[in-house]
Amino acid sequence: MDFTHAKAPASKKIALVAHDHMKPILSEWCEKHSEKLKLQHLFATGTTASKLSNDTGLAVSPLLSGPLGGDQQIGARIAEQTLDMLIFFWDPLASMPHDPDVKALLRIAAVWNIPVACNPSSADYLLSSPMLDQAYDYRVPDYNAYQKSRV
Ligand code: PGA
Repeated sequence: MDFTHAKAPASKKIALVAHDHMKPILSEWCEKHSEKLKLQHLFATGTTASKLSNDTGLAVSPLLSGPLGGDQQIGARIAEQTLDMLIFFWDPLASMPHDPDVKALLRIAAVWNIPVACNPSSADYLLSSPMLDQAYDYRVPDYNAYQKSRV
């Protein structure tokens, strides 16, 4: 695989997702970081977005609910390079009907090399990074080279 570079802007587009038992934990985490989160562009799967708006007052753009395709919408945006970060509090103690979508989302975030946090501690580290408020150059797959190599 060949790689090239992409640039995340100083104000990040952040996708937020929490499975049901993790939603209160995500709300609490967003409260804790609300001053920093206010400066970013926030997106979330449907139910997560409603809960975060109610609990924290943060402006969150809603996507579809996760089990109905919201995880895949986030994955598509990552592949299109229109999201810069994923905060995904998936539930390690529950099985999900949309488990393939959960795996696919984590996989595509790895492919496109965006920062991902799956628990509050990791998310604390991401939000406290100096790179949060700066443009950030990072490595991504070189799609043109990939296409050429396949044809
Ligand atoms: P939800 O989806 O925010 O609509 O609950 C999250 C998920 O289960 O992926």
